[in-house]
Amino acid sequence: MAGQINAFEMAQKQFDGVAKLLNLDPQISEVLRWPMREYSFRIPVRMDDGSLRVFQGYRVQHNDARGPNKGGIRFHPNETFDTVRALATWMTWKCAVADIPLGGGKGGIIVDPSSITTPEKERLCRGWVQNMWKNIGPRQDVPAPDVGTTPQMMGWMMDEYSRMVGQYTPGVFTGKPLGGGGSEGRTEATGYGVIYTVREAMKHLKMDPSQSVAALEGFGNVSQYAAIGFVEMLGGKIACVSCWDRNDKTSYTYSHKDGVSPRFLLTIVDQYGTIDQKKAKEAGYIIEDGEKWIEKECDVLIPAAIEGHVNGDTVKRMSGRVKIVAEGANGPCTPEADDYFKKNGIFNIPDFLCNAGGVTTSYFESVQNDMNFYWTKHEVLERLDTKMTQAFNAVLQMSEKEKVYMRDAAYMVAIDRVVKAMQLRGWI
Ligand code: NAD
Repeated sequence: MAGQINAFEMAQKQFDGVAKLLNLDPQISEVLRWPMREYSFRIPVRMDDGSLRVFQGYRVQHNDARGPNKGGIRFHPNETFDTVRALATWMTWKCAVADIPLGGGKGGIIVDPSSITTPEKERLCRGWVQNMWKNIGPRQDVPAPDVGTTPQMMGWMMDEYSRMVGQYTPGVFTGKPLGGGGSEGRTEATGYGVIYTVREAMKHLKMDPSQSVAALEGFGNVSQYAAIGFVEMLGGKIACVSCWDRNDKTSYTYSHKDGVSPRFLLTIVDQYGTIDQKKAKEAGYIIEDGEKWIEKECDVLIPAAIEGHVNGDTVKRMSGRVKIVAEGANGPCTPEADDYFKKNGIFNIPDFLCNAGGVTTSYFESVQNDMNFYWTKHEVLERLDTKMTQAFNAVLQMSEKEKVYMRDAAYMVAIDRVVKAMQLRGWI
């Protein structure tokens, strides 16, 4: 996580604010402020050199009133229990706002995935499943990839789970590789989903997408396809992208006098989202400090890297031209940044709405696994567009009806749906 920000305190603070707006019974709030179940465990892994290393693993299941828990597994050196709690909580709201019949979960391991070899990674993935297999499953909790994890890792994890339970169970993990139970369109889903919501926001704000410029933080899975979608679907221009350089252990912003070409950068970025500096320079890219991305002249800001980077300090450096902040990452904007957006009339597309394309397509993946019948990429993306557009418009309507900020409106839609499910099940 970002360092100074406790993500879970932020998630609770956001929830408390909306619970107040909704006049939610404090006893119901007490159920929803905390995860229902939490798992913390140690994973011993035999390393390639014969030594034994022990990794810290987590899984948090926040609320499953609307269906099995759903959420990614992060491999990150700064992972904490509180980060996982926050992300699990946001997943409950995300699935509810996207109106898919799933609850919220999240997992993680404290590890820098680029510091271990492929066989070590496989053993670590299998170790995570050996600890958790009794508490996950297609009808219990369905993990997926997140920062630092890949489709291949989901393939290993699904295989380990299938071994443990004694039957092929593709629906236990989503984000699996194509040909190994994965869905067409999953790679593009989160980034394209971000752009479907940006497109709807632009319609609402009467902006011309073809005249618009975006600045993005990060150049991993979400940012890559958000950038491609911004250029290819909306006809807009990209001012810059940024990334964490895992060799230099510092972040950089990449821009180009003719606008960034995301398709080109895709050819020189590694699997962890680090852009090859030498090749970028050769192609005329300007490389600046990692925080510069937020200062670029643009209409749309898409933080799609890590939480807490748009905060009380950095938000003031934003260009006065910004009209939309589309949260590709989870929790990229702090409550102080929210205050700034409200004061300055900046339209915010909150994370659990904006980046719900990934989980929606994960849901499509498990539906296809259940049917053992697979859709084309076109079918997947068309269904995704429909779902994201409906979700965006439900939140916009709530925001206009209740005269509240988009994040609050998204929480209202989501909390309403979760409370209703708990009531219908007789939990409250
Ligand atoms: P990724 O690992 O593919 O890429 C992360 C990118 O962020 C990389 O380019 C990395 O270099 C960059 N980055 C990391 N630290 C940085 C820093 N300090 N400054 C600048 N750049 C930095 O991850 P991803 O899958 O693209 O996920 C990004 C965010 O989106 C996360 O918050 C994740 O939880 C969220 N998210 C991802 C998905 C998904 O389907 N991948 C879905 C929903 C939400």
